[in-house]
Amino acid sequence: MKYYSLNNHHIKTTFKEAAITGIAPDKGLYFPESIPQLDADFINNLDSFSNEEIAYRAIAPFVGDEIPESVIRGIVAETLSFPFPVVKADDDVYSLELFHGPTMAFKDVGARFMSRCLNYFTQGEDKKITILVATSGDTGGAVASGFLGVEGIDVVILYPSGKVSDVQEKQLTTLGQNIRALEVKGTFDDCQDMVKQAFLDEGLKGVNLTSANSINIARWLPQMFYYFFAYKELGKHGKPVVVSVPSGNFGNICAGMMAKKIGLPIAHFVASTNANDTVPRYMGSQTYEPHKTIETLSNAMDVSNPSNFVRILELFGNEFGALDNELTSYPFTDAQTIETLKKLYTENNYMADPHGAVGYLGLKQFMEANPGYTGVFLETAHPVKFADSITDNLGIEIEIPEQIQAVLYGEKKADTISSYEELKAFLFG
Ligand SMILES: *Cc1c(COP(=O)(O)O)cnc(C)c1O
Repeated sequence: MKYYSLNNHHIKTTFKEAAITGIAPDKGLYFPESIPQLDADFINNLDSFSNEEIAYRAIAPFVGDEIPESVIRGIVAETLSFPFPVVKADDDVYSLELFHGPTMAFKDVGARFMSRCLNYFTQGEDKKITILVATSGDTGGAVASGFLGVEGIDVVILYPSGKVSDVQEKQLTTLGQNIRALEVKGTFDDCQDMVKQAFLDEGLKGVNLTSANSINIARWLPQMFYYFFAYKELGKHGKPVVVSVPSGNFGNICAGMMAKKIGLPIAHFVASTNANDTVPRYMGSQTYEPHKTIETLSNAMDVSNPSNFVRILELFGNEFGALDNELTSYPFTDAQTIETLKKLYTENNYMADPHGAVGYLGLKQFMEANPGYTGVFLETAHPVKFADSITDNLGIEIEIPEQIQAVLYGEKKADTISSYEELKAFLFG
């Protein structure tokens, strides 16, 4: 499979190059040159296949012959080393829990898959790759855990001092080995600016830098897997299935829509956002007009200019009508999110996190207007990751899961930097 740049369809590359470089030389996002079609027999009998087999069949055509079958099967197995339960949360409404991985957020899936692909591609090369990533929270932890101990790859994570939660900071700073954390005196935007400057710096060409954010195809595409797992369970109910995805950079929902394009019969998608509502406004007005980013309770979705939305437009040939048939998008306020966390906990006996609550809200709004569906929302993080908002609003303490306890007692190791020059010196160090 070849991938082209969305800025210029004549710029094409392999899966390997796209995974190693992340973004095209003209700064375009990579997109597969053709959309594979899964066998109808396979789709109609999903129930008789294991999750590993389903995931392998979904990803294989996107990788082509660039990774041998036995290796890609091994990568899939290691990616799916934790459960993906579908839990009833309301009448005809289910939660697809994506938080049972090592850092308790869905980003574990993409990070684990990507790290193992890069590991395969760098074997036998004497040059190391350095992953440079800025994080406002969840990305850094998932990347740190996903790449921990992977040979041939060093990881450097920049995070804003005092602006990530305690759990998140521990997930970045306690692992050691090939993972190094830089505590930046500044904001997330300062971190991101330094990372961007490093990628443009000719003086750093020798360091072999790459990124690990959601625009990388090796992080984006494996997110298709769990849409298949959810459909395998819920398709049996005999009603059309609608999926609501709490969305920020729109990588997750874009993977779900790709799963549909290759054959998974999901009937409809709902993109649920917080107050950062560029896409819901676009679906109403057909005008794409990002506003300033607003801080919310569901902070992993505080994105006003979602980078993956161009991929969604491409999936529909840039035809608004076709997209409008398959996607509905609603925004929700923090007040609505809190009310929903409370309602789900007290009435439905389900503890959601603020991101999942936004997903649930979007699903309910769609299903009230469109009866007859089985609905599922993606629960993208464990509530413990946002323990403060849960404790404040529900008045309950959350039991700390094993994965989190392990890092809480680890020793924080981070270098502090406050300028680009210091970052550069660190990378050469
Ligand atoms: C990253 C993240 C999101 C948003 O996912 P996108 O792919 O950027 O739309 C939602 N919830 C949680 C918990 C996240 O960490």
